[in-house]
Amino acid sequence: MRDLRALPKGHLHLHLELAMRPSTLADLAAKYGMEVPVIRGYGNFTAFSATCQATMATLRDRSDWERLADEICADAVADGAVYIEPSFWAGQYVDIWGSLAATWDLVLDVFDKAAATHGITVRFMAAVDRVLDSPDEAMAIALLAVELQDRGVVSFGLHNDEVGHPPQDFVDCFRVAKAGELLITPHAGELEHGQFVKDSVDLLAADRIQHGVRAFEVPGLVEQLAEQGICLDVCPTSNIMLSVFPSLAEHPLPQLLEAGVKVTINADDPLLFGPGLLDEYELCRRELGLTDEQLAFAARCSLECGGAPDDLKAEALAGIDSWLATPA
Ligand SMILES: [Zn+2]
Repeated sequence: MRDLRALPKGHLHLHLELAMRPSTLADLAAKYGMEVPVIRGYGNFTAFSATCQATMATLRDRSDWERLADEICADAVADGAVYIEPSFWAGQYVDIWGSLAATWDLVLDVFDKAAATHGITVRFMAAVDRVLDSPDEAMAIALLAVELQDRGVVSFGLHNDEVGHPPQDFVDCFRVAKAGELLITPHAGELEHGQFVKDSVDLLAADRIQHGVRAFEVPGLVEQLAEQGICLDVCPTSNIMLSVFPSLAEHPLPQLLEAGVKVTINADDPLLFGPGLLDEYELCRRELGLTDEQLAFAARCSLECGGAPDDLKAEALAGIDSWLATPA
């Protein structure tokens, strides 16, 4: 069997703080005299969300962020990633750092250094929180994201609970992000009906959808995704942990591949769900029966559909070809 660690890949669906190592969460909680958040057994989005909040509250001073950045880059390299595009919502930290811009400045700075240390390329997705952000706040994030393009922000996301927060509520800020040439990458079709995927494509002009796995609920949508080359950033373990599907056996990733949809394989929140990027690739091989050709296709999409610089894309795509060319 070919070694999946040696397959060059990008990681396009990864929430920044939730890529923290469990041991780091325990250390930071101790540092600030907090109870260590329990990281298991969610089953629903509300329980999961509370754990996210507790995790974010452990990141307070610059050294916490330096440690997070260093470990995320080290872990990505260990999994064979050449590129990561974590998503970040800075609103959580404005009280500490003074503004969205100052928070982004800190994060971009610590990741610049960590990426150089570990020899990996990092670009960012600026995300709107669909539950917490007002229309004005969402617009402010879009404008800042466009402004931060030369610092490494390449995509514009939309996260948190879909229920009650449909894509059509965010048309204005996504229009600004699109005009600013950011990749459009909202979450959709995870906790809500597949129609949210269609609306994200038709109304927000999505280039990629984070999850999108419920696209099958809308007749003709999977064909539309394939035709338009819209990529789905799929996270198999996350979907099971949050009860989107009852079991891996019922996960639609193989059907999406068969339908010709571009897909990537991702960990979403490794701190909370367990598996990292490489683990997810191995899981897809072992449990979903994906072939090496399909795994290489997903790796290809993770470079072609992300915001990696062109020279890195070309080098990594050549690496994927030679991985597949080695005898299994
Ligand atoms: Zn996600």
